[in-house]
Amino acid sequence: MRILVIEDEAPIAAVIRRGLERAGYTVDVATDGAMGLERAAEQVYGVILLDLMLPRVDGWTVCETLRARRISTPILMLTARDAVPDRVKGLEAGADDYLPKPFDFTELVARVRALLRRDKLHKTRVIRVADLEIDTDSARVTRAGEEVRLTRREYTLLEALAANEGRVLSREAIQERVWMDSESFSNTVDVHVGLLRKKIDAGHAVKLIHTVHGVGYSLRPPDGERS
Ligand code: CA
Repeated sequence: MRILVIEDEAPIAAVIRRGLERAGYTVDVATDGAMGLERAAEQVYGVILLDLMLPRVDGWTVCETLRARRISTPILMLTARDAVPDRVKGLEAGADDYLPKPFDFTELVARVRALLRRDKLHKTRVIRVADLEIDTDSARVTRAGEEVRLTRREYTLLEALAANEGRVLSREAIQERVWMDSESFSNTVDVHVGLLRKKIDAGHAVKLIHTVHGVGYSLRPPDGERS
């Protein structure tokens, strides 16, 4: 599980990184709000740890922007102990929980775990994009009511795209998500998207899998039919 830490104070970020890595998570650190937004757009995270006082784009704006982009990753705000109005503002901006600084590390890890659990429970079991239905419990896929048979890899790829409906996933993000590594770049992703596209879109007037040239791929209904 990958966690994004948006924190401008290097010593704090380093401590958080070390602790979370020790707890078994992969950690990316962004040192300002704009970089945090970039990271969150190109990578899928389980949880985002968000400082509020940040250079370039502050934490509240980061939070609002993520939610406006329909990125629903749980957000844990890191706030000053006595800053109640800050916390309220953060929760209103779409954060899920907060942790006052300075914090106890075991509490931070416990809260991260709780957010991950909660998120898993709340995830809808059936993802629908236009007439495409993905039952994530049984891994059964239908398009316009007809079952679509996919290989395991194609299914994982489809689920990754569908879980990020409307967002563009870079080849690197897909590679990491579906192949569990981002080191070996090749045309593997393109080939598999091609195969998936044949099964999902061929024979249908409405295409759901879109290529975003130079960036990656996106699964979405045509404009104007966004669910
Ligand atoms: Ca700060």
